[in-house]
Amino acid sequence: MARSDLDVLIAGGGFAGLTLAIALRQALGASFAVAVADPGLGRAAAGDDERASAIVASVRRLFETLGVWQRVAADAQPILDMVVTDSRLGDAVRPTFLTFAGEVEPGEPFAHMVENRIVVDALIAKAGDLGIDLRSAAVTDFTVSAADGEEPPAHPGRIDARLSDANTLRSRLLVAADGARSTIRSKAGIATHGWSYGQSAIVVNVAHARDHQGRAEEHFLPAGPFAILPLKGNRASIVWTETTADAERIMALPQADFAAELEQRFKLHLGEIKVIGKRRMHPLGFFVARSFIAERIALIGDAAHLIHPIAGQGLNMGLKDVAALAEVLVDAARLGLDPGALDVLERYQRWRRFDTMAMGIATDGLNRLFSNRSDVLRLVRDVGLGLVDRLPVLKRLFIREAAGLVGEVPKLLRGEAL
Ligand SMILES: Cc1cc2nc3c(=O)[nH]c(=O)nc-3n(C[C@H](O)[C@H](O)[C@H](O)COP(=O)(O)OP(=O)(O)OC[C@H]3O[C@@H](n4cnc5c(N)ncnc54)[C@H](O)[C@@H]3O)c2cc1C
Repeated sequence: MARSDLDVLIAGGGFAGLTLAIALRQALGASFAVAVADPGLGRAAAGDDERASAIVASVRRLFETLGVWQRVAADAQPILDMVVTDSRLGDAVRPTFLTFAGEVEPGEPFAHMVENRIVVDALIAKAGDLGIDLRSAAVTDFTVSAADGEEPPAHPGRIDARLSDANTLRSRLLVAADGARSTIRSKAGIATHGWSYGQSAIVVNVAHARDHQGRAEEHFLPAGPFAILPLKGNRASIVWTETTADAERIMALPQADFAAELEQRFKLHLGEIKVIGKRRMHPLGFFVARSFIAERIALIGDAAHLIHPIAGQGLNMGLKDVAALAEVLVDAARLGLDPGALDVLERYQRWRRFDTMAMGIATDGLNRLFSNRSDVLRLVRDVGLGLVDRLPVLKRLFIREAAGLVGEVPKLLRGEAL
């Protein structure tokens, strides 16, 4: 039987694409040919991404199993507890409605905060150590050729991907891990359900005088959530939601005025604060792809779904896709099945699409409930938060759900090798 050059070509070397490549290489070895193509490989390492992410417990287990966590652990700040408040911008006191102690199991924090560039650096280094074929080029287009009708087929189905460096790579499966504006998703004709929020997140890191003691804070203000997320050392990552018009105004302010706006929201409980690094703005939207698969194509990560960062779950959802797709592909390869066959891809889609819709709708609902000026809604949500705060069983369920430990959890997220 004629073989394609590659078994799997992954377009996109962000969190999702690199992690999938590592998982497949570790489980199936070098005889299962995997390549990653990304024109920006290593750009995050050059300091382009100022974001930090909350890596939840299940994703930490996946990174441990893949031998990646060991490379980031020293820079990872455990979230030891969380506080949620709900107030107006000018309120002198911010009543606390909800607190969480941050462990899913004794001694196992619910999440760690790590800067994105540190994780991407570790993934690139690990992929390099494993000898994964990394190409600094974009996938610009592709053509699918079906298998011929014979049994067994003389020509198996394949997909030819054209790269921006003029090469063409032939593969049995093309994985779109090329982010929210996925070229592959649009060229495959997969539509999305969703909308823009008219909100943007300002992301900036600050240094502060006092120890944060591993406490994450989410302050619900009328324009949207203002999150203070602890980083290693006396530092925090701020994710600050505003309407896009206000975010643009704030982003254009001179440093002293920007710092004054920040301080009005941050307050001074951690002592003097100082902006470090660049400020960045990310427009916020929500969508879920109408299908996670097409002929010889699977979508993962932000290429498949984009959610509001209100619950810090976007990347974690993408890594759930990775864990599920890796498990499906490894099972198929061990049975000698074609990794790009429709029934293999359908198993992946059944596993992930419903869960993604549920999380997408939950984060969308949270954002609508909290990002508004209605006093009635404020009363409703504060009663709700207060109730949750008094019910330890419900709190524990929320923590385990947020940590990715509820439902049909793929093996890698349980910390089991494939
Ligand atoms: C402000 C903010 C805060 C967030 N905080 C959190 C958090 O705390 N926790 C969390 O879980 N999530 C968080 N998220 C979400 C998280 O950052 C994303 O979900 C995650 O980065 C998506 O990873 P990805 O690999 O799918 O896509 P990306 O990181 O977007 O990577 C896509 C890659 O594809 C490449 N590419 C693009 N086009 C092509 C092409 N044609 N061919 C080949 N390669 C291509 C790009 O160069 C890029 O490297 C946050 C998001 C925002 C906006």
